[in-house]
Amino acid sequence: MKNVDLVIIGGGPAGLAAAVAARKNGVQDILILERDSELGGILNQCIHNGFGLHTFKEELTGPEYAARFIAQVQELGIEYKLNTMVLDLAADKTVTAMNKSDGLFQLHPKAVILAMGCRERPRGALNIPGYRPAGIFTAGTAQRLVNMEGYLPGRRVVILGSGDIGLIMARRMTLEGAKVLCVAELMPYSGGLKRNIVQCLDDFDIPLKLSHTVVDIQGKERVTGITIAQVENGKPIPGTEEHYDCDTLLLSCGLLPENELSRAAGVALSPITGGPSVNESLETNIPGVFAAGNVLHVHDLVDYVSEEAGAAGEHAAAYILKGEHAAGRTLPVRCENGVRYTVPTAIRPDCAGDTVTLRFRVGGVYKNKKIAVYLGDTCIFSRRRPVLAPGEMETVRLKADLLRGAGDAVTVTLEEG
Ligand SMILES: Cc1cc2nc3c(=O)[nH]c(=O)nc-3n(C[C@H](O)[C@H](O)[C@H](O)COP(=O)(O)OP(=O)(O)OC[C@H]3O[C@@H](n4cnc5c(N)ncnc54)[C@H](O)[C@@H]3O)c2cc1C
Repeated sequence: MKNVDLVIIGGGPAGLAAAVAARKNGVQDILILERDSELGGILNQCIHNGFGLHTFKEELTGPEYAARFIAQVQELGIEYKLNTMVLDLAADKTVTAMNKSDGLFQLHPKAVILAMGCRERPRGALNIPGYRPAGIFTAGTAQRLVNMEGYLPGRRVVILGSGDIGLIMARRMTLEGAKVLCVAELMPYSGGLKRNIVQCLDDFDIPLKLSHTVVDIQGKERVTGITIAQVENGKPIPGTEEHYDCDTLLLSCGLLPENELSRAAGVALSPITGGPSVNESLETNIPGVFAAGNVLHVHDLVDYVSEEAGAAGEHAAAYILKGEHAAGRTLPVRCENGVRYTVPTAIRPDCAGDTVTLRFRVGGVYKNKKIAVYLGDTCIFSRRRPVLAPGEMETVRLKADLLRGAGDAVTVTLEEG
């Protein structure tokens, strides 16, 4: 097997954008390894529109968005292997992978970009009481069945969880002729984008039941009914049960970054995001191993995945071509007052370019607040936000010069607006 300078694990939007950026920044030998039979990742099953408004200033479907990056990868002559599963990543960056034609093979690249995406939280991780009949799917599995394989998984549907995939599937199942009875959400707010609540639920009169969860699943061979109940302090309130006759339960209860390979390699993971802890260059604790996209933290819009992955590709190129940067001072990034996490979790001002991009999510719904960023006691950024919600990722761009002042940590916080 010919060796390469850069291996990218995963050929979804993150892997594609990272590859394009690395090539444009001078890396010749790049190999994308993708376990699926085509490039594009999860976008291949997202046939609705709404992708690319930021990147291309037009509304594309998921496959159209992916196709633009696949075309760039092909035009730039970047190599990729499909149907190729990466089985192991070692701390010294040895990549072990396998496919039908090459068998088991190893690569020893100078740098690796983790772009494995995420997977959905399954029923087993949700502790829902009741039998285990047929008719319970994750929303993403239902999306694949309907959009790619041509099957309608059910006719009367209850959806648990109001993440974006659940909202999108409420509309898709309705358009395909199924009756979506309700979307139940444990939290007092939706986990999805506001625009998806309006376009996928409100426009189709599908009720969103906040602070509700499934307390029983009926049916032995196939789901015959679902009981939901209102929830207070995480517990169902007796007497609030509502029954729905249905044949299908779709679960849209969160995405988990796919980091088995990272963990085995010794990449430090954030307990909040489940993704690698990275510095301003999106580099993990293993020098030369970078991460981007949903493997790093779950994104709301694919445009931000592409932007972030482009940056990872650039930094990986700098690492390959110029070697490790003398790090200098490292500032940890702390979260306060409702900010749940940030990416990155550390900034080395001497390694930053002109700006450092911070992405984060909040832990609840906040109105009329100000996002403020401090270096030590000095406020270096502030912006008013009328509404902040957990379903929407926030982005802050800091001028790197301001990070070179006095102070031993960066704090991201919410203040009264
Ligand atoms: C089911 C589902 C539906 C979604 N629907 C929407 C939507 O409608 N709209 C929206 O904006 N966002 C949606 N998202 C979010 C979407 O995932 C991101 O916007 C974007 O696709 C993330 O890009 P990515 O490259 O990080 O991950 P992915 O698109 O998931 O790509 C990761 C790639 O890595 C590959 N891979 C993983 N492990 C290995 C391995 N060991 N070896 C080789 N290859 C590997 C996978 O096969 C996959 O192709 C959805 C996510 C999921 C999980």
